[in-house]
Amino acid sequence: MSDCLFCKIVAGEIPAKVVAESDTSLAFYDIAPEAPVHVLVVPKRHFAGVNDVIATDRGVFDELIALAREVATAEGVRDSGYRLIFNVGDEGGQTVPHLHVHVLGGRQMRWPPG
Ligand code: 5GP
Ligand code: ZN
Repeated sequence: MSDCLFCKIVAGEIPAKVVAESDTSLAFYDIAPEAPVHVLVVPKRHFAGVNDVIATDRGVFDELIALAREVATAEGVRDSGYRLIFNVGDEGGQTVPHLHVHVLGGRQMRWPPG
């Protein structure tokens, strides 16, 4: 996807502070952090969002969560706790149409979210 922001970050065309990487996924700091730890984990392949991952691609989720967990460990929040969020679509609050999971931590999270 040539005009996709996160595809451009994956391709190195737009700079980002990379935290971790696997063969299939990339983790980088969110540009507008909502918590002391706020990292985005994205598949290197373009999917618009959670609804666009079909059955044969579901390993994508395993790989995202596995890298998110590595990020939590590297950022020192594995044991204190953290939150993983997939925003899906407009009412879900998704603003960038490339699948991503937010890794949030380093402060007490509130529930329910706004
Ligand atoms: P969404 O609202 O789609 O779940 O999350 C998109 C996230 O991407 C937001 O938290 C926003 O701050 C972040 N973001 C938007 N543009 C950029 C960018 O150019 N670089 C980085 N690192 N994060 C971005
Ligand atoms: Zn993309």
